Amino acid sequence: MDVNCGELREAHIGNDVTLHGWCRYIRDHGGKLFIDIADKHGITQLVFEGAAKSDAEKLGREYMVEVKGVVNKRSDETTNQKMPTGGIEVAVKSLKLLNKSKIPPFELIEEKEKFLANEELRLEYRYLDLRRPSALKRIVFRDKIVKSIRKYFWENEFMELETPVLVRDTYETGSRTFLVPSRSNKKTFYSLAQSPQFYKQMCMVAGIEKYFQVVKCFRDEDAREDRQPEFTQVDLEVAFKDEAYIEGLIEEMMVRVFKEALGKRLKTPFDHLTYAEAMENYGSDKPDLRYANKLVDITSEAKKSSYNILKRVAENNGKVKAIAFSGAKYDQKKGEISEAYMLKIIELAKSLGLKGLTWLYVKNKSMMSEPMSISESLKGVEKELLRKLSPKDGDVIIIGADLSERLLLDVMGKLRKEISQKIGAFDSDYRFVWIDNFPLFEADEVTHKLKPSHNPVTAPTDATLKLLDSDPERVIGKQYDLSLNGEEIAGGSIRISDPELQRKVFKIMGMEDVAERTFGFMFKALSYGTPPHGGIAIGLDRLVALLWGESNIRDFVLFPKNKRFDLLIDGSPSEINPKRLKDDFGIAFIE
Ligand code: ASP
Repeated sequence: MDVNCGELREAHIGNDVTLHGWCRYIRDHGGKLFIDIADKHGITQLVFEGAAKSDAEKLGREYMVEVKGVVNKRSDETTNQKMPTGGIEVAVKSLKLLNKSKIPPFELIEEKEKFLANEELRLEYRYLDLRRPSALKRIVFRDKIVKSIRKYFWENEFMELETPVLVRDTYETGSRTFLVPSRSNKKTFYSLAQSPQFYKQMCMVAGIEKYFQVVKCFRDEDAREDRQPEFTQVDLEVAFKDEAYIEGLIEEMMVRVFKEALGKRLKTPFDHLTYAEAMENYGSDKPDLRYANKLVDITSEAKKSSYNILKRVAENNGKVKAIAFSGAKYDQKKGEISEAYMLKIIELAKSLGLKGLTWLYVKNKSMMSEPMSISESLKGVEKELLRKLSPKDGDVIIIGADLSERLLLDVMGKLRKEISQKIGAFDSDYRFVWIDNFPLFEADEVTHKLKPSHNPVTAPTDATLKLLDSDPERVIGKQYDLSLNGEEIAGGSIRISDPELQRKVFKIMGMEDVAERTFGFMFKALSYGTPPHGGIAIGLDRLVALLWGESNIRDFVLFPKNKRFDLLIDGSPSEINPKRLKDDFGIAFIE
């Protein structure tokens, strides 16, 4: 009988079996040679004696073999309770070498993973890295989630369709695109789709009504630790439905994924915050609600205090915000949250652009500081601050002040996350939150020109549509983002279905010319009786990593690129012969 390497148990004792696998761990004990043979299912111990042993002596690590033998019970001393196959071994009668192997560049034995080779080496040999059970487990987990998502949408009568990848270079998310030269039309280019956005909208124009796709997206963004230039989204689009329908759909999908992939029950509905509430209370549009602490406005108290820096900011229309961190257990010298740590926080704030940050701690129900002059200058408003922040003994308080509220909220949000993580006071494993009511536009910090806060196809809310001409910055979009534990995992919107309104939105951003040139095909499509529609996209790589409980998305991508976006298994990107570029594509390098 053909069996895999993780299958045999004591019930199989006496059976003749055939196994295929890699020789993972070889031990020669004189009279007997033991080899742990491995495949994706597990490991089985083989025993070679006599003639079989002399054949096996030629085997090396990761050689691929076929063996035939009989299943025997292991002796009491060699039984290994920790291994599923640890009660048996296979006495080999015949051995066939299927393929030799070079010595692998790093250990593939699970027990030796403590000494895991560096990531670059593992990425170069990712096909070997994936032979490690714990690397493969993450990919199996991804597959489980994808299957669960697909089944859910199929059952809900969504059509799974494929939109084009080679598309027009256009303005969508504000990210850069990868360009692909066309050989048949020299000096013209395709762009690799940043997302199926326009094409899924065209599905709605076509009357498909319910579309979904597990789809690769390509964005030529700056290389960063937690990004991949090609990543996977679960994209969907529906006609005739509103925000509540799409949010409900995603919540039910998550319930299903949690049940099938994690065996956990997820509570719905998820929390909701408006963008303004999220920024005001958490300093982030993807707040981590596992931490209870919030930003509290103390501008009026700062104005009344004798703490000069805070007072001055408050008097000059700036803002002053405080956060009390419960459970900090401040200890000047020995604590996790010590004076040295808080001084590092001040440095971190400075590096993020916030100069006005101070900190205090609470002892005997009073606010204390190092040096004492800080708490003394706040004495006059201490009562009010204690009432607003309700800290307990041992808690630390940070106070930030800046003339730019945007900067202040942003940095305080980051510090909230940093200090909360250090304290480790989580209130549950998974906290989802929908953020909605985003402004439709945001002003570019440098040029002050308006740009879409998400993407240009988001429809304005009915209530704020009338502000489009008079006060565009106050227009709210029908946009909804979903965050999980402080990471954005999905974003979508109800779209503009009227081509004239779509034109107007581009015009407000001063982009009407670019839009006609690059987006004309969408104006055209929208002008044929487009049904009202909306959709969302879920970042699959990040979702899988978060559900597993890790942050490195590369471990959840089959063949990931490294931090510099190199694909080390094939050495791309690689140079292309300039002659080929010229002859095939009509492109010449200009140095
Ligand atoms: N196209 C958007 C994105 O890729 C998602 C959406 O609005 O559906 O971010």
